[in-house]
Amino acid sequence: MTRNIAVIRGDGIGPEIVEQAVRVLDRVAALYGHTFTYTDVDMGGNAIDKWGDPLPREMLDKCLESDSVLLGAVGGPKWNDVPGPMRPEKGLLRLRAGMGVYSNNRPAKIWPQLAAASPLKQEIVDKGIDFLIVRELIGGIYFGKHETVSQNAEAVAIDELRYSESEIRRIGRIGFESARKRRKKLCSVEKSNVLDSSRLWKKVMHQLAEEYPDVELSDMLVDNCAMQIVKDPSQFDVIVTENMFGDILSDEASMITGSIGMIPSSSLGAGSRGLYEPIHGSAPDIAGMDIANPIGTILAAAMMLRYSFDLPQEADCIEAAVSAVLDSGYRTADILPKDAAGCKKAGCREMGSLIIENLRKG
Ligand code: NAD
Repeated sequence: MTRNIAVIRGDGIGPEIVEQAVRVLDRVAALYGHTFTYTDVDMGGNAIDKWGDPLPREMLDKCLESDSVLLGAVGGPKWNDVPGPMRPEKGLLRLRAGMGVYSNNRPAKIWPQLAAASPLKQEIVDKGIDFLIVRELIGGIYFGKHETVSQNAEAVAIDELRYSESEIRRIGRIGFESARKRRKKLCSVEKSNVLDSSRLWKKVMHQLAEEYPDVELSDMLVDNCAMQIVKDPSQFDVIVTENMFGDILSDEASMITGSIGMIPSSSLGAGSRGLYEPIHGSAPDIAGMDIANPIGTILAAAMMLRYSFDLPQEADCIEAAVSAVLDSGYRTADILPKDAAGCKKAGCREMGSLIIENLRKG
């Protein structure tokens, strides 16, 4: 397979962590006989410095011409005083809008080797945590009409929550397709006991289920889901939900797994092209020190192989290599236990090299 990947190294630790992910992709390509080529794209603070714009049009075009986009992170204190529309983060928002990505997908996976970092009780963690939250990204209450009016001599604030059938159907499909690539269980989360938008959500999900007989669909109210994520997260495979519920549940899910440096995410739209990135920011406090954890970005590259390029074995190969390195006790500073018992400290590049050494064709 030949694929071109737009690579946005970004700011802060971005270039260091993306470099490791690219090295891993190169090794996977060599093992499995693929060709991955890379197109460098400037975005964020470095693009402001170079071009006076956090995402110049030609940079967005390079992303749109690619098969998928790999991003480190953007932003940092150097650009704090830049005016609103030119801020580094605006580049990211424009990229998401330009790519038309309406689905944000975040895995919540606990690595048994890092179980002690989870705030959950050992007996809950021991049952395993490995699920994916598919969140609708560009609809719902965050994108409805917001207004504050004066009524009966007091302020009244109104936020509109609307979803159309087609908006629900397209995110539902991402949920079903993702479940198909995993353990084939999809939990649709809503608040249908109260909200009309949720009743429509539930109806559309059940219509879609007829097209996916191999996927087991269940429904759960969002308040119950928030409880179940901490009580028994092992029950979930894929959760699909609307924008605001997904915003809250995905942050809850990332907390139960331990380190922010380990978690990847993807954003998908209509085609197979996606935007893949770690969930953390540019960590300016540790930039250039070769101590950042590159695993979230390396796992984002694995997600790209699984969900955009349909290469599940290659994705499994990367995840198995990460697991093997953790088994052998190597840890970057952010996941090193306080007493460091039985662990060996590794820098960013060294962690990349260790993962590459452990890549084995399945
Ligand atoms: P952050 O995620 O960058 O850092 C929070 C803490 O986690 C810091 O102590 C940092 O050192 C640590 N950390 C983060 N990633 C790490 C890694 N891979 N390895 C080891 N430690 C890691 O959040 P912040 O400090 O709030 O934001 C810094 C900058 O990043 C800001 O300019 C913010 O706007 C930007 N940001 C960008 C994105 C993105 O590009 N998608 C996302 C969030 C924040």
